[in-house]
This record gives sequence, structure tokens and C-alpha cells, in this order.
Amino acid sequence: MNVLVLNSGSSSLKFQLIVTDLDSISQGKDVRLCRGQIERIGGEAITAVQTRQGLRQKFTVSLPDISAALEYLVHWIVSDASGIAEIQAIGDIDAVGHRVVHGGELFAESAVITDEVLKGIEECIDLAPLHNPNNIKGILAARQVFGPKLPQVAVFDTSFHQSIPEQAFLYAVPYHLYRRHHIRRYGFHGTSHRYVTERYRVLRAVSKEQTHVITLHLGNGCSAAAVREGRSVDTSMGMTPLEGLVMGTRSGDVDPAVVNLIAIKEGLSTHEVEALLNTQSGLLGISGLTNDVRVLLEELRDHDDRRVRLAIEIFCYRARKYIGAFLACMGGADAIVFTGGIGENSPAIRARICEALEWAGLKLDDSRNDQTVGLEGQITTESSRLHAFVIPTDEELLIARDTVRCIKGECHDSQAERSPKAEELRI
Ligand code: ADP
Repeated sequence: MNVLVLNSGSSSLKFQLIVTDLDSISQGKDVRLCRGQIERIGGEAITAVQTRQGLRQKFTVSLPDISAALEYLVHWIVSDASGIAEIQAIGDIDAVGHRVVHGGELFAESAVITDEVLKGIEECIDLAPLHNPNNIKGILAARQVFGPKLPQVAVFDTSFHQSIPEQAFLYAVPYHLYRRHHIRRYGFHGTSHRYVTERYRVLRAVSKEQTHVITLHLGNGCSAAAVREGRSVDTSMGMTPLEGLVMGTRSGDVDPAVVNLIAIKEGLSTHEVEALLNTQSGLLGISGLTNDVRVLLEELRDHDDRRVRLAIEIFCYRARKYIGAFLACMGGADAIVFTGGIGENSPAIRARICEALEWAGLKLDDSRNDQTVGLEGQITTESSRLHAFVIPTDEELLIARDTVRCIKGECHDSQAERSPKAEELRI
């Protein structure tokens, strides 16, 4: 099946076109035909695409809304200019898979989008007011462009964490707040945590029941998940993505009382303080320089700037603290899995997080760690009791695969699957 994967934002549309079916999933033979994004929708939009053959193209065209953007994209895909031989007409696209941010407690799995599912996604708008409305717009735009008969599937960022037990997802606040307003921890990055967990099972040839790992998604947003018997039993993000690890621009955990204090002292509304914790904090806030880890590491190397050093130390310390907490919560784990832009590409950050985890049996292999950049692999010594792996995430591939599985009625608790060879898929 040719699956168009969409991630609809407020003014952007990220997309990938992936050929997959149940056989390809089990054999890891999925093929990515193109990937790209349309940005600045609502004005002079910029479309950047890259095809399997390595052809990169960029277009600027006025696109008033997401429907226009999708129509434009599909038009390009079917045109000769795209060079995508597999898609000659709109009818060659068999399904659309959507990333949906919040599925609340309604969706513990991906779902074929029916009117009822759409209503469920709407009901979760309160929980993700900035994201779910855009995801819904993307779904409606696809219905308009492809017609109501084309199967569409929603894959939720929160679903993987629906297995977390009450003791871990409830806040110790008056219980009626959970009953009345659904105030609880949901967790995010579920598609990424699930992808790397499933991939770990394949690499280690272990069953779901034998999969006990802590997955660390370290990108611009950062989160950790405690995965026991292949299921998420705790995660660092909470009601919103603000809780937990230190991130590029998010604070992660803070004492909730500081919100009011900052508001009073700085003359801000609580909304403004929340924005400050989301966009001006984390690595950027501490360093006063940037949220880009590459730049921070260069700065540290070249100038040994105190605040830069502090930002990196606090970032790594918090990650290590969560690893320790999760090891205790889940009664030990077999491995830590690093993913996300930082987790996949920065041996220096991984080494700092892993240092002082020797007590837990983790022995980093420095040369493996240094060589594993943007690649899959084990970075601990063979004798390590607690292993560490790097597994590049691929959320779009999981969305495409779930789209196929849901349409074929096989979405429940999918079996571990092979990943395609890098050269087959990565473009
Ligand atoms: P997003 O969460 O937006 O998907 P990514 O997963 O792409 O983000 O991660 C972005 C982060 O990855 C940035 O902070 C960037 O500094 C970091 N990063 C990317 N490449 C490297 C690298 N080679 N070394 C260190 N950090 C890197």
C-alpha cells in the first residue's frame, strides 16, 4: 500500500510517502518514496521535498490553508516533476496516516478514522488545545482532497503510555480534579518510545515479555519512558510535555509554586509564565545562548563558558536522575535506549548521562559510543550488566505501518518487526 503520512501543525505540514504492507512490515521491506514539509502555510508557503533518488526540490507558492497545501502536495506527487514513478494518479495513494498529539484516555491504540473517532479526537482538544485542532484540520483536508472513502488512520502520541498504572499517572492532588477535568499524566513521544522499543526487541531477539528498557528520547523535546514487558509503565512527561527532563527550551520539572512567584516578581500572568517555562527555559534558559546542543558543546570546548557547562550538566543530571528513578520503579532494566536528535548524534551527551551509572552495571564502551552517530548499535561493553543502545527513531514509519495494520484489522498489540535496511529507507 502507498501510505501518505501527515503531521499537521498550525502553519506547517510534514509528510512522507511510504510503501508498506503486512509482508513488508514483517520483512522490514518498507520503502520511503519521499519526505518533506510545507512551512508558512497561510502566506507564501515554502515546500521542501526529497525523493528516494535523492532529488531535492524547493518551491514557494501562496497556500492559504492546510487543504490548499495538501492539494498542492498531492498534485506535485502525481506529477511527472516529482519523479515518483509509483504514484501516477491520486488513486495510487491507498491510505493516509495522521500523527495526532492527544488521544486522552479514549485511545490506547491507533484507530481507523470514523466519525466517532473524529469526535473522540475533538473531545481531546481540551487536553491539547494547540495541537489537536490542527490534526483535525489535516484529517478533514485529507477527506476533502481524497474523498470520504479513502481510509485514514490516527496514530496518537499518547497511546503507548495508556498502559501506565494509576499509581504512576495520577498526581497527588484532590482526586475530583482527575474526575472532573481529566488532570493526570498522559506522556508524549509515545510513537518514538514504541518504535525504539520494538526495534530493540528485534535487535536483541527477545519477546515482548522479555523487554525491560528505559527509552530516552532526547530531541528538542525530551522524555524518558520506563518500559516493562514491552509496555510503558511510567514516563517523564505529564499532563503536558512540560514535565520531566530538561529540554531545549522547556524547564522540565519545577516546583509548581514557582509559577505564581515568577508571575508576581516579574509582573507576568500565569499564562505568560507557562510560556516562559515552555519556550525560554531548559538549555536555552540556563545557557542564555541557544537550545542547540551542537553549539553548546562547541562553546564548551572552545571557551569553557560556565553557564554553558551548567546547562549541559543540569540536562545530563536530570536524565540520569530519571534513569535511576525508573530503574527503581521497574525493578531494574536490561538496557537504556537513546534516540532523538541528541540521543542519536551526541556521544558526549550520552557519555555524560551514563557516567556514574556504573553502580547499576552500565559500562560504556567509549569507542563504540564515539562511532555510533546517527546509527543503530550497542554502546556498552559485552560484560555490561545494564546495556545502552542507540536506535534512531522513525515515527513516520511506525505511523505508516500502523495505518496498514489498522486497515487490515491487525492493529492490536503489534508484533515486533524488522526495520528496513538503512539504504532502503533513509533518504
Ligand atoms: P525534534 O524534537 O524537533 O524532532 P530532533 O530530534 O531533530 O528534534 O533533535 C534536535 C536536537 O538535536 C537539537 O538540540 C540539536 O542540537 C540536536 N542535535 C542534532 N545533531 C546533533 C549532533 N551531531 N550533536 C549534538 N546534538 C545534535
